[in-house]
Amino acid sequence: MIEMKWPNGAKCAVCLTFDFDAEISWRNILRRHGIERDNPVVLSQGRYGPQEGVPRILRLLNRHDVKACFFIPGVVAEEYSELTVDIAEAAHEVGHHGYTHTNPARLSPDDERDEIVRGIEILEDLTGRRPMGYRAPATDLSEHTLDLLTEFDFLYDSSMMDRDNPYIIATGQGTLIELPFKWYMDDWVHFGFNYFPPLEYQSGVSSHRKVSDIWMDEFEACYEEGLYLMVVMHPQITGVPSRAKMLERFIHRIKEQGDVWIATPSEIATVCRNAGADGG
Ligand SMILES: [Zn+2]
Repeated sequence: MIEMKWPNGAKCAVCLTFDFDAEISWRNILRRHGIERDNPVVLSQGRYGPQEGVPRILRLLNRHDVKACFFIPGVVAEEYSELTVDIAEAAHEVGHHGYTHTNPARLSPDDERDEIVRGIEILEDLTGRRPMGYRAPATDLSEHTLDLLTEFDFLYDSSMMDRDNPYIIATGQGTLIELPFKWYMDDWVHFGFNYFPPLEYQSGVSSHRKVSDIWMDEFEACYEEGLYLMVVMHPQITGVPSRAKMLERFIHRIKEQGDVWIATPSEIATVCRNAGADGG
């Protein structure tokens, strides 16, 4: 195993990310079930993200002087443009998360290209910066996605689950850094719940203690092995009061360790690009 060299002699790197899906992921779920109307209560769960979750998370990150990344679908950036600007002005990274948050594997090559282009345009227009990274909506890729990302000069993708540390992917168009994660480090897996439509997210809601134990254990093991750790959260899920406290305890634990680099995905991908990381 190759040990990654993180800045300032840090033994481990931690990356906090938020997929800011708002209502669009719920709207897509309704459509997938053939429901053409916008059920107000279902969509309101997503609206919790911009109304309560993002502001609470921004205050928390600010209190701890931690920079994170928000992956924002283009339609969400358009609808919540002021919040998107607030996120960028607080020096957090803004990443690409599709335009309509449609699973790329369900799109034609032309439509997928259009989603990439429109997402870049709206994020660049609002934040003044071109997004450097991409996380696939619905955590799925088409056979064209990685080529498209390289063609449009993305530095990294963060959707795969095959390694511990970041690594370089060779695509038909060049190379891309992959920042992998694991399902159990995604808050949706533990807390995602919905009553309607049925058969989507009705597995129950986990105890905060259980999830906190999983995340703390993963951090401690990654620290011991000198790895990087990617945490995937959603403002509508982790932005509620008690889970924000859970995140705060997690940040405290990481900071208490001392030699840990808490960094944005583009910062981590840049280190890996410069080091020619091969996955370690
Ligand atoms: Zn998403």
